[in-house]
Amino acid sequence: MNNQNPLILSATNIYKSYPQANDKLDILNGISLDIYEQQTISIVGSSGSGKSTLLHILAGLDYVTSGEVLIANKSITKLNDQQMCKIRNQEFGFIYQFHHLLPEFTALENTLMPLFISGNVNKESRERGEHILNKLSLHARLNHYPSQLSGGERQRVAIARALINNPRLVFADEPTGNLDNNTAHQVLDIFFELQQELGTSLIIVTHDIEIANKTQYKYKLYNGVIAHE
Ligand code: ADP
Ligand code: MG
Repeated sequence: MNNQNPLILSATNIYKSYPQANDKLDILNGISLDIYEQQTISIVGSSGSGKSTLLHILAGLDYVTSGEVLIANKSITKLNDQQMCKIRNQEFGFIYQFHHLLPEFTALENTLMPLFISGNVNKESRERGEHILNKLSLHARLNHYPSQLSGGERQRVAIARALINNPRLVFADEPTGNLDNNTAHQVLDIFFELQQELGTSLIIVTHDIEIANKTQYKYKLYNGVIAHE
């Protein structure tokens, strides 16, 4: 796939298998994928097809059996843990099926968590957090704790947290899998608006074809390989 925008991440011939007694379990069987700036990509696959495994590998959270992942033209195997953590903290955002908000922190504090971790909380970043939460229609929920929020609101806070660092690329793993259908679509539509405004690239894995239809490029993951839809 060619694109005029700069390349963010490039995966080539990714294989992943897990050892089993006297055998191995092949999960990914030669996946190549390029992700450019501002691009949105979905990968659809059924449960157990290897979607989470692939995302973890692309984000440097899991190791390949063979193949290579390049970030900014550098192989991630050549980055040490500290360099990889820095990239994940500053250039990537993550949204999971479950919000993983910290119960003892407010919506705004949870949003700012990546900045607390990198020691970058200041007046501007707080304002940015408020701005993003505002965009996600949570301006009246800044000081609510996760237990005081609905499922859709919690997931919107998780989206705000993924975007707080103005990441180049957001990884979303079944991001609305835990929400009812209506709420899921509402949350995703707001998210896609924000994604466009911020120019963030997105790779989303899902079993839901309707969700996949919201991205520019669609792939199907089946038998460990991806095919362009
Ligand atoms: P998906 O996200 O598409 O549901 P996963 O990537 O989580 O699928 O898992 C793909 C397959 O890999 C599953 O069959 C799962 O059982 C297997 N798997 C995942 N992690 C491990 C592991 N650590 N050891 C052995 N098998 C695993
Ligand atoms: Mg999964």
